[in-house]
Amino acid sequence: MIAFNLEKIKTELPSGVKLVAVSKFHPFEAILEAYSEGQRAFGENRPQEFAAKAVQLPPDIEWHFIGHLQTNKLKLVLPYAYLVESIDTLHLLEAVNNWGEKNGKTIQVLLEVHIGAEETKQGFTPSEVKAVLQMAGEFPYVRFRGLMGMASHTDDEEAVAADFAKIESLFDECRGQFPALDGFDQLSIGMSDDWPIAVRHGSTEVRIGTAIFGNREY
Ligand SMILES: *Cc1c(COP(=O)(O)O)cnc(C)c1O
Repeated sequence: MIAFNLEKIKTELPSGVKLVAVSKFHPFEAILEAYSEGQRAFGENRPQEFAAKAVQLPPDIEWHFIGHLQTNKLKLVLPYAYLVESIDTLHLLEAVNNWGEKNGKTIQVLLEVHIGAEETKQGFTPSEVKAVLQMAGEFPYVRFRGLMGMASHTDDEEAVAADFAKIESLFDECRGQFPALDGFDQLSIGMSDDWPIAVRHGSTEVRIGTAIFGNREY
């Protein structure tokens, strides 16, 4: 089933959009099945699970951290992370930069944007995003790669499209306003239920779990 689901998504997804397979709560075997189909980018949202999988699964997997990250959990995530997509406070950003300095690693991040979806209180407002990017020079061990966001959880496709449109225009404004930011070119929007809408709004990366691996057991 995993192979079938992956194949179906890959035929529909434009070739320029990266597919991150969100494997949280799913066992190693599920990841290995996707891996054997050629999938290399995986997303996890709990530090302990992220570290266990990153250490034990094939080393050429590109691990994306997509969950809430507390500063006392950095050592579980930052050594293995290709991209931390969920930077949601200045405090976390400072801690990541400090960790990078101590460990001699530059950490690639996305800033998580809060655009009014009631479900997620996490993330920066659009004006906070710009204020953070204005200060980018203060974080030499952080490479700002773009923005991550979620749409409201609703069946109303117009509401979802409106949320994605807001994130897209913020992304475009940031790129215009901070042209010196090297590699700020990633817009991570779109999940199982709404990724086709996200793709129409400039998504460069979709994070898909359920539509690949089936329902999660919590
Ligand atoms: C779980 C999760 C996803 C994937 O959600 P699905 O609806 O299963 O595709 C994407 N992004 C984040 C931040 C998540 O926590």
